Amino acid sequence: PKKTVVITGASSGLGLAAAKALAEQGWQVVMACRDFQKAEKAAKEAGMDPENYQVMHCDLASKQSVRNFVQTFRTQYQSLDALVCNAAVYFPNAHKEGVFLPGLFPGGGPRWSAEGHEMSFAANYLGHFLLCNLLLEDLKKSAPRGTARCVILGTVTATVNGSELGGMIPPLAHVGNFEGLEQGMKAPVTMLDGGAFDGAKAYKDSKVCDVMLMKELHRRFHKETGIVFTSLYPGCIAETGLFREHYPVFQNLFPAFHKTVTKAYVSQEEAGKRLAAVVADDRYGTSGSYYSWEGEAGTGGGGGQDAVSNTDKDFDWFMNYGSFRTLSIDEIGGEAGDDQRCSKLWELSEKLVA
Ligand code: NDP
Repeated sequence: PKKTVVITGASSGLGLAAAKALAEQGWQVVMACRDFQKAEKAAKEAGMDPENYQVMHCDLASKQSVRNFVQTFRTQYQSLDALVCNAAVYFPNAHKEGVFLPGLFPGGGPRWSAEGHEMSFAANYLGHFLLCNLLLEDLKKSAPRGTARCVILGTVTATVNGSELGGMIPPLAHVGNFEGLEQGMKAPVTMLDGGAFDGAKAYKDSKVCDVMLMKELHRRFHKETGIVFTSLYPGCIAETGLFREHYPVFQNLFPAFHKTVTKAYVSQEEAGKRLAAVVADDRYGTSGSYYSWEGEAGTGGGGGQDAVSNTDKDFDWFMNYGSFRTLSIDEIGGEAGDDQRCSKLWELSEKLVA
């Protein structure tokens, strides 16, 4: 039978590219999307074979929607081989409270989920927390076949490893001791550390939580269930919808900056293949790992234990584009390195989704 993967936020960018890559490898891809019409159109335009995918509605910024998704999924699928927590929103710096220049900087200030939580936290992290918890049952059923994986997207800006330029650009992630979360993360509280709203920081904080979620899932469930939990920084996919609300000048310069300065640039198609490999390839099967893409061919590969060696000729794309550096669970740094904080986040999150 075909293997089944659920990918959240598969209507654009990395999620769509990974959906296409996995569908082409014979997976059944369930595209869990908030806008199913957009997702359907995107899948068709990407040339995906309707035999290999199904769009299902799932808005991660609503607990009820996540629960409904899981129910619907179970009516059609007996088990789940892989879950990819990919969906995310990013409201750039312009969205500071009080900064509002019509036309140039749309919006301004925080936005809210169905339950009234700050949106980056709710969609990027909390919805995934609930989804992972609910789908554990379904993943467990595939674990005896040795295929069960849960991959949660991280990012260099979550600063899990103090050595990369992308993780040093302010505003830095700072979840603190979850002072804001302890107060419920509802208005007027907008930030996990209880500080003033900053859209870019809210995104980074939410991604720290995503890495913490992966670690906690590993700690709590890997041994008992056999499910492999990993996280991935795919490189900077500078042209995705993630930056859709940034200033036009930023959108134009951002790809060039990452091509030349950080050398972290990666195309959507390429990043999709990387994510697909972390889902499907045996070499990415160590639970608790954080796979961080580094460098273009020839510039990366230094340090750490490489999950895939630079001399592996099986993967053309890999040879062409660079390498992953693997951080084992104990090497994951920054705030996500603090086990006590990971546990605290889990406990506070349980209360919010109860
Ligand atoms: P995109 O904006 O292209 O894709 C994000 C996806 O998430 C879209 O499909 C979007 O849906 C979906 N989404 C947003 N909110 C919700 C919600 N409430 N419920 C369901 N789906 C939702 O961004 P990317 O492809 O760049 O980002 C994908 C992942 O990669 C993210 O986790 C991001 O943090 C990570 N990443 C990206 C990097 C980059 O350089 N781009 C670098 C490092 C990590 P819709 O189409 O309806 O808007």
